[in-house]
Amino acid sequence: MTSEKISRLEESIREEGSVLKGDLWVGPEGDSAVYTARSAGFCFGVQRALDTVYRQIEANESPIYTYGPIIHNEIVVHDLESRGVRVIETKKELEALSRGTVVIRSHGVAKEIYDLLEERHLHVVDATCPFVKKIHRIVEERSARGDEIVIIGSALHPEVEGIRGWCSSEVTVVETEEEAEAFRQKTDGDLCIVSQTTFNLKKFNKFVEIIRRLSYHETAVLNTICNATEERQTEARSIASLADAMIVIGGKHSSNTQKLYEICRKECSNTFFVQTFDDLNLRLVPFRGIVGISAGASTPNILIEEVSKLCRKILSRC
Ligand code: SF4
Repeated sequence: MTSEKISRLEESIREEGSVLKGDLWVGPEGDSAVYTARSAGFCFGVQRALDTVYRQIEANESPIYTYGPIIHNEIVVHDLESRGVRVIETKKELEALSRGTVVIRSHGVAKEIYDLLEERHLHVVDATCPFVKKIHRIVEERSARGDEIVIIGSALHPEVEGIRGWCSSEVTVVETEEEAEAFRQKTDGDLCIVSQTTFNLKKFNKFVEIIRRLSYHETAVLNTICNATEERQTEARSIASLADAMIVIGGKHSSNTQKLYEICRKECSNTFFVQTFDDLNLRLVPFRGIVGISAGASTPNILIEEVSKLCRKILSRC
């Protein structure tokens, strides 16, 4: 039965245009396998932000600060700390700085933060992901012409706070179906709906449908979910639907990892959220059949490889 499932998985991987393009290891008896998602780990924006910080360290641009942790991964943040990079958590802390380099992470920040950095004459290195920057530009332009803005995403997520900070008109953040149902337009302007880059596509489409039904004005819908997220979610969903156990690796504060976990959990009840290598509770994971591995955008490749290697080792012995 499992061997048949593995053969089907191998076929899917070979199919042109398949979302399953990851790395498949098949056990010696042919009845167990480990699939590591190709889309697992650092996305382009996170890698870019991280490279930016390391370049500042090399250039000896000290003191170096990041506005918020550069990525949602404690191992990486600690490594940067050991190299002298300090994390600034609040606007107040930023106001207290008189010199140094401040790196803006991939999530981006509100316009007022750029203004503040300029006022304080701090050296700014902007590592905002270009896909997030694009949303800033959209809401800035749309709100300047009077559109009311709806951001579909988590209100407390720094990326959404940043997007919100580029809106000069009425803005509402919608995170749940209930909030979408409760939405009422407050102005007579057109409506412009954008999304947090890491939002679940299915939910986004659903909320848009609800808001459109309720809105009586022209509505521009801009799906600003980034491809990296979509690809990661689609690949994870596909492998989770076939897997006997699914391991999702990422930081506990990483919203994209949490969403990935939710998606996988729906498809596979044996889905495990793992933050570090030590979190992998070997007694809980049912090591048999197909084990799928995916990871959030802030998960270092080394950690994904370590987990993948361990799973192969255990399945080889079964
Ligand atoms: S998930 Fe997409 S938008 Fe977000 S940092 Fe990565 S590449 Fe950029």
